Amino acid sequence: MNFIITTPLYYVNDKPHLGSVYTTIICDSIARYKRLRGEKVLFITGVDEHGLKIQRTAFNNGVSPKEHCDEISEIFKKNWLKWNISFNKFIRTTSPEHEKVVHEFYEKVKASNDIYMGEQKGWYCVGCEEFKDNPDNSPSYKCPIHKKNLEWKNENNLFFRLSKYQKAIEELIQDPEFIEPKERRNEIINFVSKGLKDFSISRTNLDWGIRVPDYINHTFYVWFDALLGYVSSISSDDNKYSLDSSIESGWPANVHIIGKDILRFHAIYWPAMLISAGMKPPKKILGHGFLTREGQKMGKSLGNVLDPENLLKKYGEESVRWYLLKDISLGSDGDFQDRRFVDIINNDLANTIGNLLNRTTSMSRKWFNNQTPPLSEKNNNELITLANKSTKNFLTYFDNFKIDKASNEILVFATNVNLYLNKKEPWSLIKDDKNINEVKLIIYNVLEATRIIGTLIRPILPEFSIKILYQLGENNIENKDWEENLKWGLLPESRSLPKPIPIINKLDYE
Ligand SMILES: [Zn+2]
Repeated sequence: MNFIITTPLYYVNDKPHLGSVYTTIICDSIARYKRLRGEKVLFITGVDEHGLKIQRTAFNNGVSPKEHCDEISEIFKKNWLKWNISFNKFIRTTSPEHEKVVHEFYEKVKASNDIYMGEQKGWYCVGCEEFKDNPDNSPSYKCPIHKKNLEWKNENNLFFRLSKYQKAIEELIQDPEFIEPKERRNEIINFVSKGLKDFSISRTNLDWGIRVPDYINHTFYVWFDALLGYVSSISSDDNKYSLDSSIESGWPANVHIIGKDILRFHAIYWPAMLISAGMKPPKKILGHGFLTREGQKMGKSLGNVLDPENLLKKYGEESVRWYLLKDISLGSDGDFQDRRFVDIINNDLANTIGNLLNRTTSMSRKWFNNQTPPLSEKNNNELITLANKSTKNFLTYFDNFKIDKASNEILVFATNVNLYLNKKEPWSLIKDDKNINEVKLIIYNVLEATRIIGTLIRPILPEFSIKILYQLGENNIENKDWEENLKWGLLPESRSLPKPIPIINKLDYE
């Protein structure tokens, strides 16, 4: 069965920002990890293209909504390729196939008697595409997220009977596995305990959306439509584009990775909609934190927005990956600091790992005829125990989506290998011929440890991994069993080593 993992479907009112890059990198490393563990993975990303905000953005840019969406969707897709994101499906919610699935889903929910016409009155934030509480009913009250005035709306809309699913949602969120981390789960438990209210799933006077079959002047509420992208994206394998074929492809999703701002939609509305349609809710919702910059919230008005495009050009995708995955605990808010970024890349990747590899392969080439050393003694050393321990911890952490801890485990191991090398001082031992067997062992052990580091790091930094292994004479790693390769002792003796080249350049402060 497929392991299904999704990013949110990104709203195409603007090009990708650092937050979307962050979410997508998390998904990518998990997808790569699962593939390396032998699972069949469906990694879904895409774009959410309907709604009032997009209609207005297009109007302001003097283009049609369709033209606007075509342009921005293409930017998203190209962007993920530049970031080396290994997605399997890219869904656009304006595709006719998606529309077909939305209609089928609507009919199911209607058949469950969960749709009715009601009056929708309230204050609406176009930025959030959501009705908001307005404590004083004041027209000058602003959305706390967008800092823009809310708009008063009073229209007859179709409603979804969310209140009917109070019990079902309560039971679902009881399971500590369903929403992670636990801070996020507590927010939702608290919200649900106040009682779920029905919500409107259609809009009138909004052309840019999927038409509701029975009501010609209604379009579907953008969230109702967009959430279904997760289902429609996997319903295509047999070209049927139906709910049944998405179930055959492996629905429910194993994990939706999202930012914490859209948790309510994913952890409450979405599961209730699915249950109503006779489908299973997703197995897990993982809500990551927000990114700040140098301790401050990023915002256009503050002028401190970090453009991921610039980061990519300046540092390359893997440095950014390492910083975001290793330095930020998934679930907590993270801070992007320029100095810290440079320090981490230089210390972790260039010094602790890169330099270790470089100097050890150089010694091996110099002393052993451009090869790995031949061994004449039985190899039993402290690095074997450390390698096994780090490997085991790495797998356990990754299985539990603790990517920061898994990354750190690699670093801890690499630090220990450096200590081992410095303690053994093969460069002093080599001066006396009688130590030659000991030197062979030391160099072999460090090279073998480095091979395991290069293998472990693959789901996190795929290119860096290939570079490390290439320096150790490993080619064709794509065709080898990853887990098998984590075992100690697989580096061949007397294997030719290529000329050492630095695998990463040190960064400078600006
Ligand atoms: Zn808002």
